Amino acid sequence: MKDIKSLTIDELRNDLTVLGEKPFRAAQIYKWLHVKLVSSFDDMTDLSVKLRERLKKEYSITNVSKLEVQTSKEDGTKKYLFELEDGNTVESVLMRYHHGNSVCISSQVGCRMGCRFCASTIGGCVRSLAPSEMLDQIYKITLDIGERISNVVIMGMGEPMDNYDNVVKFLGMISDENGLNISQRNLTVSTCGLVPEIRKLADLHLSITLAISLHAGTDEKRQKLMPIANKYSIDELMDGCIYYFNETGRRLTFEYSLIAGVNDTPQDADEIASLALRAHAHVNLIPVNPVTETGFKPTSGKDTAAFKNALEKRGVTATVRREMGRDIDGACGQLRKRRLDN
Ligand code: SAH
Repeated sequence: MKDIKSLTIDELRNDLTVLGEKPFRAAQIYKWLHVKLVSSFDDMTDLSVKLRERLKKEYSITNVSKLEVQTSKEDGTKKYLFELEDGNTVESVLMRYHHGNSVCISSQVGCRMGCRFCASTIGGCVRSLAPSEMLDQIYKITLDIGERISNVVIMGMGEPMDNYDNVVKFLGMISDENGLNISQRNLTVSTCGLVPEIRKLADLHLSITLAISLHAGTDEKRQKLMPIANKYSIDELMDGCIYYFNETGRRLTFEYSLIAGVNDTPQDADEIASLALRAHAHVNLIPVNPVTETGFKPTSGKDTAAFKNALEKRGVTATVRREMGRDIDGACGQLRKRRLDN
């Protein structure tokens, strides 16, 4: 059966025409699925029973279900563990800011990128998520808190550019005016640096923010932390970033996880400053989240501030990302992993 929640409104309209149904039904059905967020055809009360039965024969409605929620007592951050219909699990995080609710979603079950500091990649990649499974993480959180989600970041489990087509479709659907209509300016995709996909994405001229997980300023150092650095050099990555900036006019963000004694020296800061200036990027600093298996320790608050100062002295804008939900299984993949280990 076809996954109806992964169909764009145009695809749904075409489908209904082929089935001999009225094309205007597409807008009605789309609204039930993507605005009213219902989980069954029987909830679509303005459709005839006959049409509902017909839809049930042709389509399934993909739902994720809440297995576990942890709420931070410090800042209200909520971490969700969702079960997919095949029994796999993924994590999502809700962060409450003064400017609105931000949700971090997963794009794959696990990840095959192998970054040394990351918990999501430890068991490899099981599979990529469908657009419906990415959308439904946001829908179920919206229903859970009864408030609008204004920002979405694809920074949970998985490498979004390793699930390119589904992620691009997701971006179109979540920002569709017929759906939740979240502005593209409030959507962020984070990648460890798959250069051909970065260029392909640039050609779509979306208004989303692209974040690059950089974590080191030289190829040698980056290769020790991130296997993808063996495939694409920092020079190739920077060229991809500049292409993205030129095509979209959108400033990029460099994600930089500070690891004590590994990538947090003044020389590291100097190298990152040069790269950020070259690619017109803003730098997001975050002390690495310790994961038992990795042995990495976060840079101290003092050294983090010094790193930020060094960037700013060179004319680079930098923020230290507030650590949200420190008292819950913060780092990507930790909640799922704990559950798999038990
Ligand atoms: N695969 C994508 C998106 C998911 S990870 C990417 O690599 O960008 C989201 C961000 O968290 C990335 O910048 C990633 O490098 C970082 N990250 C992963 N594990 C971390 C940890 N233990 N501490 C701090 N940041 C981490």
